[in-house]
Amino acid sequence: MIREQMLAQIARRTTPWDIIVIGGGATGMGIAVDAATRGFDVLLLEAKDFGKGTSSRSTKLVHGGVRYLEQGNVSLVMEALKERGILRQNAPHLVHDLAFIVPNYSWWEAPFYGIGLKLYDMLAGKYGFGKSRLLSSEETLDRLPTLQKEGLRGGVIYYDGQFDDSRLLIHLAATAADHGAVLANYMPVIGITRDDEGYVNGVMAKDEESGQQYRLPARVVINATGIFTDHVRQMADPQAPAMVEPSQGIHLVFERSFLAGDTAIMVPRTRDGRVMFAIPWHQHTLVGTTDTPIEGPSYEPLPLEEEIAFILDTAAQYLSRPPQRRDVLSVFVGIRPLVKATGAAGKTSSLSRDHTIHVDNSGLLTITGGKWTTYRHMAEDCVDHAITLGRLREEPCATRNLKIHGYRKEVDDQDSLWVYGSDADAIRQIAARDPHLGKPLHPALPYIGAEVVWAVQQEMARTVEDVLARRTRALFLNAKAAHAMALPVARIMAQHLHKDESWITRQVAEVQSLAQQYSLNGESEK
Ligand SMILES: Cc1cc2nc3c(=O)[nH]c(=O)nc-3n(C[C@H](O)[C@H](O)[C@H](O)COP(=O)(O)OP(=O)(O)OC[C@H]3O[C@@H](n4cnc5c(N)ncnc54)[C@H](O)[C@@H]3O)c2cc1C
Repeated sequence: MIREQMLAQIARRTTPWDIIVIGGGATGMGIAVDAATRGFDVLLLEAKDFGKGTSSRSTKLVHGGVRYLEQGNVSLVMEALKERGILRQNAPHLVHDLAFIVPNYSWWEAPFYGIGLKLYDMLAGKYGFGKSRLLSSEETLDRLPTLQKEGLRGGVIYYDGQFDDSRLLIHLAATAADHGAVLANYMPVIGITRDDEGYVNGVMAKDEESGQQYRLPARVVINATGIFTDHVRQMADPQAPAMVEPSQGIHLVFERSFLAGDTAIMVPRTRDGRVMFAIPWHQHTLVGTTDTPIEGPSYEPLPLEEEIAFILDTAAQYLSRPPQRRDVLSVFVGIRPLVKATGAAGKTSSLSRDHTIHVDNSGLLTITGGKWTTYRHMAEDCVDHAITLGRLREEPCATRNLKIHGYRKEVDDQDSLWVYGSDADAIRQIAARDPHLGKPLHPALPYIGAEVVWAVQQEMARTVEDVLARRTRALFLNAKAAHAMALPVARIMAQHLHKDESWITRQVAEVQSLAQQYSLNGESEK
């Protein structure tokens, strides 16, 4: 993935693209993979960096969603469990099993959650990750030594999947590119073009780096912009009624020692009826999330004080060492693109209760809602619609058994480069050529300079934030460490992107100010 080459392909193109996808999150990237592997000419345009929106800010679970079972949404759970199995099969280097325990402190919890999780197992069928079972309090504490012991009666263990969301996204981008898709980050769509009859026939886009504008014709334009869906729909039709209702969720990240062992905690019903997870992730403990309706979309939403207090209070009920505000290493916030219950006016076809596909009268195809876990199925549905809408040739979906870029069946999670799958070998070679690039950039995190070089040369990282937030996860794991890494990362990037000192200064200032926001504890490390 080399941005200059992608731009050259865009400039060379004289005929309409089969499909232009607006938005480079899980939804848009899944569509690019699906369309490219069916043999269509596809162009994906992302306004910022791939994954800058919601898709780097999830709880990192590939799951059926135990809580949807409680709501009686069996078809949604079955679909997600199946997709969970397909994703683990196609990307074993990125998705792995994780044991979860629902701790029981009341007499009724073991039978109640035990039966619910047996149903969860049954719905997974051949895609199951492991059988749930009841645990005694000793067995529960064996697996979760830092769990609150007082009043503990036992637990229910079950299995789900875990992943690194923005890493999977970059590997999906590489998969799409491997199959001929053209992708550009920092290329916002600034207008939708329409033919004499008012029918959508392409987009206007702007390269944020050079300022150059492009008029790009297409047979089908797909709007996959998550929380920005309505903004893009209103580019085509200023009267289009809003269909997305944003709701934010925050996560707090702590040291690994707060959740010793390799098992996660799932609290199905917090004091105020929410679901909460405490999960081991990249040698840290991630706790979340919340569900707070908000006014509108933004790229860097702020956590509310009451959300922080809620997570700290709930964690204190379940962990023997209650985490304090000063223990928070990073706080990150994502916004769910929930579809309004009433739907939008016009031709809305709800393909499942999970995601929504909508065709505006102008012919703009919009897909929104859903979850990371179901991105592949969403993409299949969407491209099927695009084929009909754009009168494209009928081609069957090819992603069910498609190996994701970097596929490697066995990974060693003790190796800090395991998330790269087969690409890890090339990164090790970069480090071998220049041993300086083999050293960690910060003592608190495993990231090395060779990963920065790889991100620039092969993964279209353009800014220091791209590297610290989404190619590595430094900003999400430890905001102070990310603050300290900014300068060394900028220096490596500047060398490979041929940038000068003023670029370095600007980049460092920008990402350090963001790191302050992700750090709850005031002044970041100098
Ligand atoms: C707190 C939280 C926790 C979650 N946890 C999980 C979980 O554990 N498991 C799970 O399966 N799901 C989870 N989800 C859901 C999942 O993260 C989302 O469903 C998914 O990431 C949405 O992806 P998307 O591509 O639709 O949106 P986004 O990732 O937001 O992508 C939309 C993209 O469109 C781009 N864009 C906007 N306007 C333009 C324009 N004009 N031109 C070009 N590009 C544009 C944006 O920059 C953005 O990158 C969670 C969600 C939240 C909020």
